[in-house]
Amino acid sequence: MGAHSRKCDWCGSGTPVVRDMEPVNPEFQFWCEDCARALIIKGDPIETYRELDGEPIYGRLLDEHCTLKRFYSFVTA
Ligand SMILES: [Zn+2]
Repeated sequence: MGAHSRKCDWCGSGTPVVRDMEPVNPEFQFWCEDCARALIIKGDPIETYRELDGEPIYGRLLDEHCTLKRFYSFVTA
């Protein structure tokens, strides 16, 4: 049971690409790319996160959609 065998906590079907390390609601920690993107667009991005794929997928989403990326980049540093 690694990260790859579980599903997105929000939609229940997507493959999680990012984990919220300080979730507001502990039931929603793992997010697929689509749901994570929706959060960013909604203006409520995950602030403390860990990429699950060894690839900066969530970082790229922030790059594409979030004008506050500079503010959040310290989290990954
Ligand atoms: Zn999802």
